[in-house]
Amino acid sequence: MSNLLLTPIEFLKGVGPNRGELLRKELGIYKYVDLVNFFPNRYIDRTRYYKINELQNNIAEVQIIGKIINIKTVEFGRNQKRLVATFVDDTGQMELVWFQGHKWIRESLKLNEMCVIFGKCTSFGNAFNMAHPEIELMSEHEQSLRSAMQPVYPSTETLTNRGISNRVINKLMQQLFLETQTLFTETLPDYLINELKLIPKKAALFNIHFPKSTEVLAKAKFRLIFEELFFIQLQLITKNLIRKHKIKGHPFDKVGEYFNDFYLNHLPFQLTNAQKRVIKEIRTDMGSNAQMNRLLQGDVGSGKTIVAFMSMLLALDNGFQACLMAPTEILANQHFIGLSELAETLNINIRILTGSTKIAQRRIIHEELENGTLHILIGTHALLEDKVKFKNLGLAVIDEQHRFGVEQRSKLWRKSTPDPSKGGEIIPPHVLVMTATPIPRTLAMSLYGDLDISVIDELPPGRKPIQTVHRFDSNRLKVWKFLRDEIALGRQIYIVYPLIHESEKMDFKDLMDGYESISRDFPLPQYSISILHGKMKPADKDAEMKRFSEGKTNIMVATTVIEVGVNVPNASVMIIESAERFGLSQLHQLRGRVGRGAEQSYCILMTSHKLSSDSKTRMETMVKTNDGFEIAEVDLKLRGPGDLMGTQQSGVLNLQIADLVRDRDTLALARNYALKLLKEDSGMQKPEHSNLRAVFIEMTKKKNIWNYIS
Ligand code: ADP
Ligand code: MG
Repeated sequence: MSNLLLTPIEFLKGVGPNRGELLRKELGIYKYVDLVNFFPNRYIDRTRYYKINELQNNIAEVQIIGKIINIKTVEFGRNQKRLVATFVDDTGQMELVWFQGHKWIRESLKLNEMCVIFGKCTSFGNAFNMAHPEIELMSEHEQSLRSAMQPVYPSTETLTNRGISNRVINKLMQQLFLETQTLFTETLPDYLINELKLIPKKAALFNIHFPKSTEVLAKAKFRLIFEELFFIQLQLITKNLIRKHKIKGHPFDKVGEYFNDFYLNHLPFQLTNAQKRVIKEIRTDMGSNAQMNRLLQGDVGSGKTIVAFMSMLLALDNGFQACLMAPTEILANQHFIGLSELAETLNINIRILTGSTKIAQRRIIHEELENGTLHILIGTHALLEDKVKFKNLGLAVIDEQHRFGVEQRSKLWRKSTPDPSKGGEIIPPHVLVMTATPIPRTLAMSLYGDLDISVIDELPPGRKPIQTVHRFDSNRLKVWKFLRDEIALGRQIYIVYPLIHESEKMDFKDLMDGYESISRDFPLPQYSISILHGKMKPADKDAEMKRFSEGKTNIMVATTVIEVGVNVPNASVMIIESAERFGLSQLHQLRGRVGRGAEQSYCILMTSHKLSSDSKTRMETMVKTNDGFEIAEVDLKLRGPGDLMGTQQSGVLNLQIADLVRDRDTLALARNYALKLLKEDSGMQKPEHSNLRAVFIEMTKKKNIWNYIS
């Protein structure tokens, strides 16, 4: 990149130290090049002129031709003044208002001369007014070349207050282009530009800031969006390639006694084809010399656990230990029970470690872990504690990945002990992360581009699709009758209340009120009810969960603590209270708690009559489909990718112009081209890729996704 483009921003004519400081602080603009890449977030059509009698309250900015016929200072309150001008055109009159800077504004205003005003109108009774309008004399206006689309840049309150208006940014941009435009170089190879009919980089930058027409603006946007996504993909894919070449893994080259014995003699059911395929993918991956870093996606109930278990058996067969980390104690417990059952006849030592594991027990675990007699350790975050050291951890499985941050994932990497036979080198375990929050593929590609992805896209046979309905609170009596009928048939029921952080107290009250009224409607001794919420002690939670899973209670009243992974096949009805307060993926997770047995299952979404249009869409989507991927797509549209991934991942990519939701097609395109390019020229060494390579190196030097992921 040319040195001039790296000049600190305060040296640009019109900036200086004060504005420089503001631009740095408020907008993160440090250098010339940052300003070039500071893109408008919308455009205003300045070819359109309004008449005063066409004004409406909610139009954004308008421009009007007319003249000022009168100016006065109006006092209001104590010592408060404002400047008010009467502005007319041939259809009516309105007021222009200034609250500050009276003296020089008054001096600059010209009476009875045709001018163009520009700004935001608000109605005031019958009349409209415009505060702090931009004013240009007609003669100047005709000279200044107005492009059809005028860019509006993102701004902050501080900037506005300190006089850095959109107009100022615009002027700076003009100055910048004047000085540096000739230096903008092409970043993409010619063949790509031709194939995709992209406009040149220089033209794209020019038109994003000074668009000549809507058509060329669209081309500029496409070019820049493609470029941004393309470079991100190049980075992610390269990173993945590097990992495969450089990061050594333990090659699990044996399929031994544990795996074979289980597969031939103890499989509790026939694996689905999807499960078989995924196990094969994992086996191949772990069998190579590189470390596996794989995301296993599968809808709720698709049977990820057995895949994880069989992968662990491969680790054991090759003389290594394995661990499984789950986000909650309940879930860890359930995995412990489930895996212990699967492993019953295999002579495997499995233990569980959570926050409530007693010290004596911990000691045994630590000791067995270090001397290698403990084969599989299951647990919560407790696994990440420094004291937990493995003799030879070969595989780490993380369940419900979206609950864990990237840091936690990488912490597990360091759990292995240096290998003396390999010169004391620490070789990280293979990592398998499992998630039941299906992420649309396009998004997964950009957020987890450094992971390989396996998908279980098939449910075990014989599952009856869950029937979902939406009922208003006013229909509660009918719903309750339905519950009684189901209980009479021997089924069990979940009733879930929302728990949203900001109003935790209120939510708790809702839950308790709900519990009381349910207890009244379903009285002892005929019915018995369990309750589960975050404020309970772990031991009490377990006891309640156990009562319910053993069928001793009919109804489980709970908050979303039961959201992840809980498995009680006899539970066939899920009631979600205040369903409008849940996000789609959460609703889908909750629904996944039923439909695990042979019986027909139901999910009933209870809401009030007042629903926002988003809430309506959510309810309709839930009623319409059981497909987690379809739901994730809708969710993505409603919420945007940041939210979908949870706070840990949002903002990771820090995009300038692309939007992963809006531009998903371009993303897929960029990914395909990046893959193709790197397949043919992984180091970007070919002459036609030299400019690409230069930009790429520049990017990786910056604090970028490179540093965030893994
Ligand atoms: P999830 O993918 O949500 O973690 P689980 O692994 O808990 O799903 O499996 C859900 C249920 O389906 C469990 O009761 C499990 O035993 C059962 N299951 C898994 N795979 C199969 C299969 N191939 N055939 C029949 N039942 C299966
Ligand atoms: Mg699970």
